[in-house]
Parts: sequence; C-alpha cells; structure tokens
Amino acid sequence: MAVYIDKELCKSCKICMSICPKNVFEITHHVNKKGYNYVEAAREEDCVKCGQCETSCPDFVIHVE
Ligand code: SF4
Ligand code: SF4
Repeated sequence: MAVYIDKELCKSCKICMSICPKNVFEITHHVNKKGYNYVEAAREEDCVKCGQCETSCPDFVIHVE
C-alpha cells in the first residue's frame, strides 16, 4: 500500500486532512515551488485505501495504490 503525493501540486487546502478517516496526513514545514506548505502521508501505514483523499483533492495531488 502506498499514498503518493505530488508535493509541487499541493496548495495546502487541507481537504485531505479533514476527509481522511484514519488521519494519515500532516502539513509539513516544507514549502513547494508554489509557496505552499505541502502535506505528507505521515501515517501511511494506517491507510485503509478508501480512496477518499484521491477523489477529494481538487488538484489531483494524491494517488493511492
Ligand atoms: S487536498 Fe490536495 S491540495 Fe489540498 S492539502 Fe490535500 S493534497 Fe494538498
Ligand atoms: S485512501 Fe482513505 S485512509 Fe488512505 S490516506 Fe486516503 S483518505 Fe486516508
């Protein structure tokens, strides 16, 4: 199982954080080229592969495999 994040596309809207039932995501202190603090799958091992983050991200940042 893997949660892939294209960090350069993230705009830090936090929709994924609010929608994930397993609280997988965290905002990092790192800034991408667009100037946003991007998210990371900090608790990837807790992912239940529901796919909600993938379908809810407005910028198609997340891919769950
Ligand atoms: S929903 Fe997408 S754009 Fe918004 S914080 Fe999550 S990964 Fe970034
Ligand atoms: S697939 Fe579901 S459980 Fe896994 S990170 Fe996305 S929203 Fe969270």
